[in-house]
Amino acid sequence: MKKEFKILIIDDEAAIRDSCSQVLSKEGYFTETAEDGSVGLEKAKETKPDLVLVDLKMPGISGMEVLESLKDIDPDIVSIVITGYATIESAVEAMKLGAYDYIPKPFTPDELRLITRRGLEKRRLLLETSALRQEKKQMEENFISLVTHELRSPLIAVKQYFDVILDEEISGKLKEKQKEMLSRASERIDGLMKLVNDWLQMMGIREDEVAKRTQAFDLKPLLKEAIELLKPLADKSDVALQLKSLDDIPRAYGDKITLKHVFMNIISNGIKYNRKEGKVTVSLREEGGLLAVDIADTGMGIPEESLPLIFDQFYRVRGKGTRKLIGTGLGLSIARKIVEAHKGQIKVHSTLGKGSTFTVLLPKAQQSRKQNKSAKKVHKKGAGLNFNPTSIKGGQRNE
Ligand code: ADP
Repeated sequence: MKKEFKILIIDDEAAIRDSCSQVLSKEGYFTETAEDGSVGLEKAKETKPDLVLVDLKMPGISGMEVLESLKDIDPDIVSIVITGYATIESAVEAMKLGAYDYIPKPFTPDELRLITRRGLEKRRLLLETSALRQEKKQMEENFISLVTHELRSPLIAVKQYFDVILDEEISGKLKEKQKEMLSRASERIDGLMKLVNDWLQMMGIREDEVAKRTQAFDLKPLLKEAIELLKPLADKSDVALQLKSLDDIPRAYGDKITLKHVFMNIISNGIKYNRKEGKVTVSLREEGGLLAVDIADTGMGIPEESLPLIFDQFYRVRGKGTRKLIGTGLGLSIARKIVEAHKGQIKVHSTLGKGSTFTVLLPKAQQSRKQNKSAKKVHKKGAGLNFNPTSIKGGQRNE
């Protein structure tokens, strides 16, 4: 195991370079040396070392600059700074820049061996974590395709058979009892389909893709589109849909695809948990430097004790009014994750028996441009927006 590790020593003092190299080679590590920062960076690019020992005070590129550039070569590289007694402050500074540890000059071979061993243990853990992360991503992708093909496709087929059997013009007269049982079975299939679709949606929203798609855009057409798509459901449920917005609303900043999911989810809840001849009003306005979308319905409302729970995964209000309505309890938890990934907020206000208003707050385009730049930078380094589809968990987000 030891022999696989490569160590690069960057120091302008030949004596330090050579003695470090000698000590570490004897330990069985593969070592390389560089006399200054630029040669060091070249060698780091070529050999991809596991650990770099870097002197902070060198002519030319400083140790600090080397540290920063090493992170671009490999973010999991472990660097240890070599420093004189007088420059402990800069060693601390270097650790803030991501150095793992520092070793003050002069040091003994034992001290060097010890700190290197610890640094390489850290490297081993970082590599293991990254391999596990990759493996997890692969498993998620495989699982998504398994669910899509092995679960969703047969469900669609079964649903179609039910539809055909239930259509008496095609399949002939059914007994009342048969019809009732088949309708119930068909509804259960609808529930299962919704669960599969919600789950796929949750897994399908990847933070890197969300970050890549983030841009300035007008919210009003997006809301119009969401309303249009839900019009058939609203008509079927005898609920009126309405959009209210001022004309000169600033542009929003975010990912249109995932935000459309958010609005469709909340509006469809507004329809689903409404009453006959009820209303869902979507309004776009500004609030405290942010854009606010209110989705107000005239439905059954949410009991006060349930308000802190409705954004939790799989939570559903149990009651006479909701029993027959198909749902998974995943929609709002997905919505909240997406909104928070946009540095926004989602709030709810509800009166039992009268209706609920969900408010989504999102940053405006100009305001978040700066934020965007840093988000893109983070994204380049692999972190992206703050969205992790697999770490959704419950929490209180109601006002
Ligand atoms: P689903 O609707 O699939 O059950 P959601 O996560 O979208 O899941 O919602 C969670 C729960 O919150 C719902 O089951 C319902 O009890 C409640 N809820 C959500 N929106 C509304 C609303 N507009 N009016 C009343 N209750 C709602």
